[in-house]
Amino acid sequence: MATNTFTAPPMSLRTALNVAVIGAGAAGLVAARELRREGHSVVVFERENRLGGTWVYDPKTESDPIGLDPSRTVAQSSLYASLRTNLPRETMGFRDYPFAASTRDPRRFPGHGEVLEYLNDFANEFGLTELVRLGTEVKRVGLEGGKWRVRSRCGEDFLDEIYDAAVVCNGHYSEPRIAEIPGIETWPGHQIHSRNYRTPEPFRGQVVVLIGSSSSAVDISRDIAGVAKEAHVASRSVTDGTIGKVPGYNNMWIHSMIERVCGDGTVVFQDGSAVCADVILHCTGYKYNFPFLDTNGAVTVDDNRVGPLYKHVFPPTLAPSLSFVGLLLKVIPFPLFELQSKWIAGVLSGRIALPSSDEMMANVEVFYRTLDESGIPKRYTHQLAEYQFEYSDWLASECGCPPSEEWRKQIYFATGKNRKVRPETYRDEWDDEHLVPRAYEDFAKYCS
Ligand code: FAD
Repeated sequence: MATNTFTAPPMSLRTALNVAVIGAGAAGLVAARELRREGHSVVVFERENRLGGTWVYDPKTESDPIGLDPSRTVAQSSLYASLRTNLPRETMGFRDYPFAASTRDPRRFPGHGEVLEYLNDFANEFGLTELVRLGTEVKRVGLEGGKWRVRSRCGEDFLDEIYDAAVVCNGHYSEPRIAEIPGIETWPGHQIHSRNYRTPEPFRGQVVVLIGSSSSAVDISRDIAGVAKEAHVASRSVTDGTIGKVPGYNNMWIHSMIERVCGDGTVVFQDGSAVCADVILHCTGYKYNFPFLDTNGAVTVDDNRVGPLYKHVFPPTLAPSLSFVGLLLKVIPFPLFELQSKWIAGVLSGRIALPSSDEMMANVEVFYRTLDESGIPKRYTHQLAEYQFEYSDWLASECGCPPSEEWRKQIYFATGKNRKVRPETYRDEWDDEHLVPRAYEDFAKYCS
């Protein structure tokens, strides 16, 4: 296994590479910072005209509301207008650039605009904007003579360039996953995916069935219940005790999963209940998608497993020149992006060693076998949840950084519990107030 016990070569002896970063969301921005800190030359490609990725609210929706048509017009982001973060801000920020309370929106769980401002501040603070080519979509990344040919398009112009390494940071919230529903071909209602939900107004007076139990499903169902005639939430993970009317609402119900839908508009649930609905809103998550990436089959997406990838970052046969930042699910994303980026930057410069390709492949195989034996479906390969700190501490040790701060772990777990106990109000009421000053004591090291 790789260790970090050797003495780092001085900057002058490190290899400085030309690196292409695809995407200027949180992952691409921090990757650019870490790569440049390590001495590499960096170009960040961003197809939109603003940096910030997911956090740029786009009131436009896509031409195909369910997101199945590959030629649909694509919106920049999946955010809805009312979105507030589902993690408290102390935990969310990069490790050395805290997301501390601001005068713009001082709430612990701020609105989406505040996160975008934070990312803009981050980009300005570290001079990253000059590295980003806005309005430039990467159309192809393919191997050529041991390097990567990157084909990009800006307006009508195409450009081919050669890079030593490519870091993929294109996000994974733009390709909707849709629930398979028996009878849907003849069901007369309207279907949309949460990616195209912005405000509740279009659902006024309607009967809406939402599928899912994620944070988005919880938020959107509450948003919609404020104006709709009825909101019905169908969830695979529902328990018998929670089926029925949602406390505090006279027009919202929880059901088990949809069993089938019928030509007269009826939606039948597995618990035997049925409603005649106008809309089915899929809050069913997303698929990984790398339409530009040509690895000759070295990296594939199989039932939402991107692989094989050593530690969710390096494909063993193409490491270290190809890497991925930000594939993880159910984590605190920004600090993990930061550590993955530090690792990539250090490996590319030769400061941090990787195991051999065979050793990495063996490690991946053991990991996949463990998931299999635990009955975890492939599609949850990148979902870390409570294991995220073990993972991030491993990355930190590879990079020679301190492990995750104790307060960050404790606040994360306290928030998870609070969300279960107070699903309606967890963003405004909590029991972990005593942990917040510990975070701010740490922040004092970084905030002037
Ligand atoms: P993105 O932000 O998606 O950025 C990817 C970028 O790549 C985009 O700008 C895109 O335009 C660009 N791109 C894609 N393809 C190409 C191409 N071919 N060429 C050039 N550019 C390309 N995280 C939290 O920490 N707290 C929260 O409360 C929270 N809430 C969320 C709520 C919702 C509804 C969603 C969808 C996500 C939420 N997240 C939250 C997770 C959030 O996605 C991450 O915080 C983070 O923003 C992901 O960053 P990213 O850089 O990986 O991806």
